[in-house]
Amino acid sequence: MFEKILIANRGEIALRVIRACREMGIKSVAVHSTADSDAMHVRMADEAICIGPPSSTDSYLNVAAIIAACEITGAQAIHPGYGFLSENAAFVQALEDHDIAFIGPTSEHIRTMGDKITAKETMLKLGVPCVPGSIGGVPDYETAQKVANEVGYPVIIKATAGGGGRGMKLAKSAADLEVAFRTARSEGKSVFGNDEVYIEKYLGTPRHIEIQVFGDGKGKAVHLGERDCSLQRRHQKVFEEAPGPSITQELRDRIGKVCADACARINYVGAGTIEFLYENGEFYFIEMNTRLQVEHPVTEAIFGIDLVREQIRVASGLEMSFGQDDLVINGHAIEVRINAERLPNFAPCPGRITQFHAPGGLGVRMDSALYDGYTIPPYYDSLIGKLIVHGRDRPEALARLQRALGELIVDGVATTLPLFDMLLAEEDIQTGNYDIHWLERWLEANL
Ligand code: ADP
Repeated sequence: MFEKILIANRGEIALRVIRACREMGIKSVAVHSTADSDAMHVRMADEAICIGPPSSTDSYLNVAAIIAACEITGAQAIHPGYGFLSENAAFVQALEDHDIAFIGPTSEHIRTMGDKITAKETMLKLGVPCVPGSIGGVPDYETAQKVANEVGYPVIIKATAGGGGRGMKLAKSAADLEVAFRTARSEGKSVFGNDEVYIEKYLGTPRHIEIQVFGDGKGKAVHLGERDCSLQRRHQKVFEEAPGPSITQELRDRIGKVCADACARINYVGAGTIEFLYENGEFYFIEMNTRLQVEHPVTEAIFGIDLVREQIRVASGLEMSFGQDDLVINGHAIEVRINAERLPNFAPCPGRITQFHAPGGLGVRMDSALYDGYTIPPYYDSLIGKLIVHGRDRPEALARLQRALGELIVDGVATTLPLFDMLLAEEDIQTGNYDIHWLERWLEANL
């Protein structure tokens, strides 16, 4: 087992990893930018090293500085959290070359899944159902027209390197295709440095259902059911739950097995998420994330499993501590993402926290790096906390969420918290009747 792990991240996810390390008797090293000298992860880790100025490019994305920090502190492994370098194959390759263990999959798997076209090709070969669309990239507008006519409108043009909802353009009819095709390409080029795009059928009313998978890298893999993350704003998740209100045990077993078998066949190691759109009883693969996800705690809650601990175990060469038969769902969990953003426009709102009080009690987990007097810097993403509740069933989880939101105090900056009180008053949220467009429609009508 590792004696010391460096966490190449900040915020709540850095704390999440430090906590797992501490429970496992492993020393933790925090890295931070000059803007984060007072951050909680710096205070909570056993050691901390400054790796550069505020800009992420110069600090949390600075591979040379992070490798140097490992060498100075003697850390044997790096946990990347999510975002930043977590899905950067070149970084993982550099660690492989420096003999530093990466707590995550191989650079080869990251590369394959990081390109949406090769990801889709791989999944198709492995028997995973995909959204109908082009086979591979679409090189020019003429081909785009041909494919779109075959697939049938509406279609979505996606940059193969896209992420975070960027590089995706909808063409409702043939009249929109040219603009959508060219904008997706130029956005792919300017944001991700790759102008290759592909075409998919645009599904009208799907839910976003993702399957948590976990592999040991030696041909054994399991699934930990699904999360429903359909409540999204601009393709960004806002509210996530497990199990999915629309998914039966039979459906879960079927798609879960397809995913676990696919991971086993490629010797996938560690945590991963296979994302699907789900419509009329059918699953359609959209992408795979080769890292721990923001919303992993809802899965941890219903299975009683520490995914970070498990990631660390398999990265160090140990066996997985559970098999498929050990994984039994217990109750229902919901997570809400709290952003330092001002409604109704969701404008980022960094600044000083004058008062912070986390909720508590049975079935409540608050993952946040906030504290009284902390100043949220303006340089990074606006997620400031995640409130996760667990109940014996969905109604209990919803009631607990409402109760916990009532206890939570975040003063000094504007946050997205008022949104959740409003959402909980909606019948569709209470009954679980929503698809990926529900939230955008609701925001338009209510904010
Ligand atoms: P990103 O990598 O940018 O997150 P994804 O491919 O995961 O992109 O898609 C993000 C979201 O975009 C999905 O959760 C869904 O809301 C929407 N989306 C993606 N593909 C389609 C599609 N074929 N039809 C309808 N909506 C889609």
